[in-house]
Amino acid sequence: MLTFKGGVHPPELKEWSKDKPIERAPLPQKVFVFLSNHAGNPAKPVVSPGDEVKTGQVIGEPEGFISAYLHSPVTGRVLEIKKILHPILGKPIEAIVIERTSDDEWVHIETGDFERMSKEEILEIIKKAGIVGLGGAMFPTHVKLSPPPEKKVDTLIVNGAECEPVLTIDHRLMLERAEDILQGILIMMKVLGVQKAVVGVESNKMDAYHNLKKVFKGYPVDVALLRTKYPQGAEKQLIYAITGRMVPRGGLPMDVGVVVQNVGTCVAVKEAVVDGKPLVERGMTVSGDAVKNQKNLIVRIGTPVKDVIDYCGGIDENTERVILGGPMMGISITNLDIPVMKGTSGITAFLPKKSRPQKPCIRCSECVQVCPMNLQPYLLYLLSTKRKYDEAVENGLMDCIECGSCTYTCPSKIEHVRYIKLAKTVYRATRRGRR
Ligand code: SF4
Ligand code: SF4
Repeated sequence: MLTFKGGVHPPELKEWSKDKPIERAPLPQKVFVFLSNHAGNPAKPVVSPGDEVKTGQVIGEPEGFISAYLHSPVTGRVLEIKKILHPILGKPIEAIVIERTSDDEWVHIETGDFERMSKEEILEIIKKAGIVGLGGAMFPTHVKLSPPPEKKVDTLIVNGAECEPVLTIDHRLMLERAEDILQGILIMMKVLGVQKAVVGVESNKMDAYHNLKKVFKGYPVDVALLRTKYPQGAEKQLIYAITGRMVPRGGLPMDVGVVVQNVGTCVAVKEAVVDGKPLVERGMTVSGDAVKNQKNLIVRIGTPVKDVIDYCGGIDENTERVILGGPMMGISITNLDIPVMKGTSGITAFLPKKSRPQKPCIRCSECVQVCPMNLQPYLLYLLSTKRKYDEAVENGLMDCIECGSCTYTCPSKIEHVRYIKLAKTVYRATRRGRR
């Protein structure tokens, strides 16, 4: 089975939700749509308080090349545009607040038969639909699908690994929406001008693997079986497992002729190009031992986390941690008013666990063995705590993909990633200051 060097195998914890068919969450009463709902420049609002908006209507326009359109997730009235703490950026960012006043009245994107459209026409629809990578990175999809001409892309890889413990939405999409995934892939293959696409699926989802195989029969789309190992779905690890190509340090997948998209993004591309539907909702998993009724859901962007949790029966009063995303790479939140974003693949909530205190490093090198980026996590941790940021960068600080494999495996319970993230932030800020 295909895989990469390093990694760990944490408990999968997918049994809570893997057999739960995708449901549609109720329409929210109020949504909070961050202008920064994608990587790159925040969108520019094109509505004002008091404006009536319909579902799918443009409420924010891109600013610059790496930016994305925003659409109203509901039919209602714009209440205000105010700053709210952005859980990823860690600072208050403007969000458009909309109160729902009725059921959906849709505004669709003008579209047609994609087989007759030019690559540029398709790209324009993907851009107009505000699609970003739904795996979590939120990178605008139309930009990813426009590699410069000197980068010869020959393969589209679709990420169906879903290696994060607990999350099961991609698994369900591969079972329930395989035809849409196929359409999305064929559309993106046309845009990229590639003859080959491969979907990578971990071996703990054999039903999804067989389903995709069946649906893709007769099309130039393969399904690769990957070993169940974390972080198998990280871009560089996925590319290596499937093609044997290594993305160079500081490089991008397109440097080795590959573009990677997530299965959820394939569905969004199909819905935009075939159905004219902008990205106003996404699939996500709500799970963890503290959640009463774990579910896989389609949720409107901007819905407060609290509303989503309430629909799942609420969380235990002893809940210790609520996380946006999965337990390995997700972000802990304390405020449940935070809204679902385009990159929110799940909400997980856990009961307290017995945790052991952090101890000094015993130089066992376990963290080095498991690091999928061939880094020395114990050293990065040490240099970060000593604020030797330049030295940390020389030792690969910026190559760390923050997967948490080192922390997971460390017998001394050292939280490498926490310090590495902080060191990266400080280094970026000081570099900006030096310019
Ligand atoms: S150093 Fe970074 S890339 Fe390596 S295991 Fe730790 S978190 Fe993952
Ligand atoms: S795994 Fe933990 S204890 Fe072992 S070398 Fe790495 S940091 Fe030190």
